[in-house]
Amino acid sequence: MGYGGTALVCGAGGFIGHHLVRLLKSQGFWVRGVDLKFPRFGETEADDFVVGDLRDQDLVSRVVDRSFTEIYQLAADMGGAGYIFTGENDASVMHNSATINLNVLDAAHKRNSRRIFYSSSACMYPAYNQEDPDNPKCAEDSAYPAAPDSEYGWEKLFSERLYLAYARNHGMQVRIARYHNIFGPQGSWNDGKEKAPAAICRKVAAASPGGEVEIWGDGRQTRSFLHVNECLEGTLRLMRSNWTGPVNIGSEEMVTINQLVDAVAEIAGKRVVKRHVPGPTGVRGRNSDNELIQARLGWKPTARLADGLRVTYDWIEQQVFANRLAPTPPVVTPAREPRHAPNGIESPVVEHAAG
Ligand code: NAD
Repeated sequence: MGYGGTALVCGAGGFIGHHLVRLLKSQGFWVRGVDLKFPRFGETEADDFVVGDLRDQDLVSRVVDRSFTEIYQLAADMGGAGYIFTGENDASVMHNSATINLNVLDAAHKRNSRRIFYSSSACMYPAYNQEDPDNPKCAEDSAYPAAPDSEYGWEKLFSERLYLAYARNHGMQVRIARYHNIFGPQGSWNDGKEKAPAAICRKVAAASPGGEVEIWGDGRQTRSFLHVNECLEGTLRLMRSNWTGPVNIGSEEMVTINQLVDAVAEIAGKRVVKRHVPGPTGVRGRNSDNELIQARLGWKPTARLADGLRVTYDWIEQQVFANRLAPTPPVVTPAREPRHAPNGIESPVVEHAAG
């Protein structure tokens, strides 16, 4: 399908951003990607990819060098429970992500690049509504009084408000999604930033038949997981709608982590033994509430979790096997020299601030 126009994808070297670039290219966009790094799995399809630090205002104003048709702000200092909930990365997470959000939004405003998408998270919902694993409450209007259970969630809440303030005061066409656990192939699976579906796929793929799979907590905490394809379908529908948001983009198929392990083991055709160990687990229950997205966009995610897990498991199993054959480094696309953009933007390679 052809749309055309120009798009800027911030965080284009990350999991969702990499898939988004590919989708925008298939719709006929000219795409610039920006990230601290090139995508880890596969070449980017961006027309122009700037390796650079979005905390740097000068870099950001050079990257936002025109009025883009669409800007997608996905760059963030984030990871799974082992990264977000231990508290060890709180200062970096808050400082880095807030700085990126301030810089990108203000540069967009100054270039009159009005249509901008911001990727918020279900982690901004109050912990007190997510204590009962069977009845979590995550309707969009339940966000206040605010009480996220992580600094990652507080930063998302701050940035939602920042983007909405620019919409009110500067006429920006802001679109905000609260993503709920997005998964799929070509995401982190073994670098300490992987989330539950990828970690479980890896553990099951690595386990011998009848072997043990370690699970953080009692495994009775509930979540829903959305495949990246439907996440992006919702993202583009929201971006091109008249609804500012914030709106949930997530699945309503809630499962316990124990059930998630069983589903992956079934796909793998393996019997595994669950071993519950202490670890960071986050809230007891969380599920997407899709009433608002259905009402505003006339659409909501419907794909079955098992279908998304199957393709994700196949990809992670391949990574695990290939990694065994060549243990160091993990299977990755070889790092390329940073390309210099045709417009002369310097593309410094910098370290990820949170390591
Ligand atoms: P990701 O970590 O794979 O991608 C984020 C990218 O931002 C990374 O490639 C990282 O290098 C880049 N980045 C970080 N700091 C940067 C900086 N200073 N300058 C330039 N780039 C920088 O994460 P993702 O899963 O693709 O998530 C994308 C967005 O969606 C994030 O904002 C995340 O908070 C949000 N989100 C994701 C999920 C999920 O389940 N994946 C859930 C809720 C919200």
